[in-house]
Amino acid sequence: MTSPSAVPPTTHQMADFYDALGPLLRMAWGDNFHIGYWEGPSDRSSPQEATDRFTDVLVERLGVGAGCRVLDAGCGIGSPALRVAGSTGAEVVGITISRQQVDQAVELAERAGMSDRVRFELKDAMDTGFAAESFDAVLAFESIVHMDRPTALREWKRVLKPGGRIVLTDVFPVEDESASPFNPAFASARRAEVPDMASFVTFEDWPGLVADAGLRLEELTDVTENIKGTFSRMLDAFLDHRKEFERKHGVTLEEVLDAAKLANQANPTSSGCLIMVATKP
Ligand code: SAH
Repeated sequence: MTSPSAVPPTTHQMADFYDALGPLLRMAWGDNFHIGYWEGPSDRSSPQEATDRFTDVLVERLGVGAGCRVLDAGCGIGSPALRVAGSTGAEVVGITISRQQVDQAVELAERAGMSDRVRFELKDAMDTGFAAESFDAVLAFESIVHMDRPTALREWKRVLKPGGRIVLTDVFPVEDESASPFNPAFASARRAEVPDMASFVTFEDWPGLVADAGLRLEELTDVTENIKGTFSRMLDAFLDHRKEFERKHGVTLEEVLDAAKLANQANPTSSGCLIMVATKP
């Protein structure tokens, strides 16, 4: 199943989307532009702890160490890339289509004293221009929702060395619940005219996507239970920081969410989440 998305966004529209949302995300949620991972209902971890934990859950699966080269496809402002490099010793190249994100990521790497091992570049993850077989692993953390999945998977397979692995997360629609920034309450009057910033497939679609890309599926795990509540927490965090944000940036929360086109038709009212690991034969 694919979403009813008619118009795929251009990379410029995608960059605008994140440039509008980025300052709010940073202020309210932190430097990880992804959802959190909680061990269970009694886990009281903060969003910062839970989002870092999700990075660690993926790092375990990357299977890289010193001397390895990792591509972070859709790297946000580089927080996961720095964590990957810090905990594994690998070299990481992060790419994003947002110039704002590249600049912020470079600054974070400098501040962390890791610029020698963690680089960031403005590139389309579906057409990277990197040499074939030049990476040991590809991490795509909550970014493939914005891409054409078959094209992205083919490109990542191309740049991977044989035996190299792709570790990614994807978000998929689930029924029930309503607490989500994808809630239609954020619907914009202009929404019919704007492209969908994300498209969705089901959990069951993944084995076929992997096989069609010529990859071998190693793991497909539904982690919906672990991310439960993340979107309502994100929304609460936005609301908590609303006054500070509006004062600092001179725009209303509604304007930002609207500009970020956070709620268009393609977005589910509630989201499941999966981890997928595949290797290049
Ligand atoms: N992985 C990061 C960011 C997730 S948000 C983190 O966990 O913090 C999604 C990211 O995908 C953003 O950085 C966005 O700019 C990037 N992105 C979306 N489409 C892209 C494309 N075609 N090529 C490269 N990056 C893309």
